[in-house]
Amino acid sequence: MNIIVASAEVAPYAKTGGLADISSSLAYQWSHYGQNPIIILPKYKTIDTNYYNFKPTYKVIYVPMAWWMEYAHLWEGTLPDSEIPVYLIENADYFDRYGIYGEPSEYPDNDRRFIFYSRAIFEVAKALNFKPHIIHAHDFHAAFTMAFLKSQYRFDPLFSKTAGVYTIHNLAYQGWFEPERAMNLAGFGMKEFYPGCWFEHYGKVNAMKTGIMFADKITTVSPTYAKEIRNPYYSEGLQGVLNLRGADLIGILNGVDYNIWNPEKDKYIFEKYSINELDKKIKNKLNLLKLIGFNNYGEPELPLFGMVSRLTEQKGIDLLMAKLDDYLGNNLIRFVLLGSGESHYEDYFRGLGWRHPKNSVIHIGYNNALAHKIIASSDFILMPSRFEPCGLTQMYALKYGTIPIVRATGGLNDTVSEYIPITGKGNGFVFLHYDAGDFDYAVKRALRIYNSQPHWNIIRKNAMSEDFSSSKTALEYLKVFKWALEKVL
Ligand code: ADP
Repeated sequence: MNIIVASAEVAPYAKTGGLADISSSLAYQWSHYGQNPIIILPKYKTIDTNYYNFKPTYKVIYVPMAWWMEYAHLWEGTLPDSEIPVYLIENADYFDRYGIYGEPSEYPDNDRRFIFYSRAIFEVAKALNFKPHIIHAHDFHAAFTMAFLKSQYRFDPLFSKTAGVYTIHNLAYQGWFEPERAMNLAGFGMKEFYPGCWFEHYGKVNAMKTGIMFADKITTVSPTYAKEIRNPYYSEGLQGVLNLRGADLIGILNGVDYNIWNPEKDKYIFEKYSINELDKKIKNKLNLLKLIGFNNYGEPELPLFGMVSRLTEQKGIDLLMAKLDDYLGNNLIRFVLLGSGESHYEDYFRGLGWRHPKNSVIHIGYNNALAHKIIASSDFILMPSRFEPCGLTQMYALKYGTIPIVRATGGLNDTVSEYIPITGKGNGFVFLHYDAGDFDYAVKRALRIYNSQPHWNIIRKNAMSEDFSSSKTALEYLKVFKWALEKVL
C-alpha cells in the first residue's frame, strides 16, 4: 500500500509530544510489513537538514491558495536507519520560524500555515508522481487534506482511488478558524459555509470537525478515548459530530518503538538493563540524583517520583498542586520534573523547587536525553491526567520498570492496571475520580508497595513484561486502511 503520512510533528525532526513519536514509528512498522509509506512534513527552522542528511530536490511545488498560487521547495531525505522517504516542504513565510505551532502562544496565521501544508501534500504527491492508496492525516493541522481529497482532487487520476483516514490525537486542539479567511484560503469560498455544514461549528470553521466529516475512516489513539469522546465531558463540544460518524470511528492504542524506548538499548541512560537486572536500574537512579544535583545522593532510599510532560491543564497538575508540598515537606518522596507549557504551571513548579530544594528538582524546558534518563531512573512516573487520549509516557515507563500512577482515563485506562498484592497482578496504581483525595490514596498505596520488597519486585517485573509495541498498532491501522479503501473502490 502507498501511504502518505501527513503530520505536523514527526520524530526525530519536530516534536512537542506523542504525535511525533507515533507518526514515525508507524512508518517504520509499515515499511517492515512491506508497505510503502512516505512522510511529508513542513521544513521548520529547527530541523537540522545537515545532521539528518536532507537534500534539496530542486523541485518547485505550486500550491493553489484562494485565487492565487503559492510556491514551495521540496527537500528529501530518509527516516534515520531506514529507506522511508521523508519530504520537507520549504516555504520561508510559513515555516521558517522557531516554533511548530507558536513561540509559545499560537501563531495568528496557523489557519493559513496548515491549510497551505494540507494542500501542499497533494501537490507534492503530484510532483513525485506518487499515487497513494491512503492519505493518513493526523490532528487538525492536516485535517483539511480530508476535505481536499473529496473535492479539489476527487477526480484527479492520482487520487481518485485514494482513501482518507483521519486520526484524532487530542480533541483539545481543534483549529478554530475565522470562516471567511479559511474558506477562501482553502479554495471553497463562503458559498460552502453555512450552519451545519461539514466545516462549521458554532459559527467558525473547525478544522477538527472538517477532518472528521470528510474522512473515510476516523481513528483515535486508544479504545477508551474512542468511547469517552462520544460524551460531552471528553468531547470538547464535538460529541454530536463524533456520534454522527460513530460507525466509522475506531480506537487503536498507540504503541511504542522499542528500538528507541527500551532499557536494554537506550543510548541516553546511564546503564542499560533488562528485566533480570533491576539492580542496574538503581544505578541509574543514583546517577540521575547526582546529575541533577542532590548532595551525595542524599537519601537514595526515598522513592523518586518523576514527571516528563507538557504542562497543560490536561495533565492533572492541579492535583499535584494540592499534594506535592505535603509529600516533599514531610520527606515522603523526591520529585523531579521535566516539562514546559502554560506559564502559571511553570511558575508553580519553580516555586515548588524553591520551597523544597532538598527533595525536588525542577527542569523547565524540553530535553529528550533527560526525558529518557528520568523515565529510566525514577521509581514512579506521575500521570494524574484530567484526560489522556493515549499517553505514551506511561508505556515507556512500564518498559523501564518505572511504575505509573495514573488516573483511569483514555489510554492510561487501557495500559495501566492496579497492582493487587493478593494476586500479584497489575503494573501500576490507578485512581478514578479527578480528585486530590483519590490521587493521594493511590500515592499512599504506591508508597506501601515500594516499601514492601517482594511486591516491589513483582510489580516492576509485571511492568517490564508488558508489550505495547507499535508493530501491533501498525497492523491495526492496516486493517482500518483496508476498510477505508472499500469505500472508494
Ligand atoms: P502528549 O502527546 O499529550 O504530550 P504523551 O505521553 O503521549 O503525551 O507523549 C509525550 C512525549 O513527549 C513523550 O515522548 C515524552 O517523553 C515527551 N516529552 C514531553 N515533555 C517533554 C520535555 N519537556 N522534554 C522532553 N520530552 C518531553
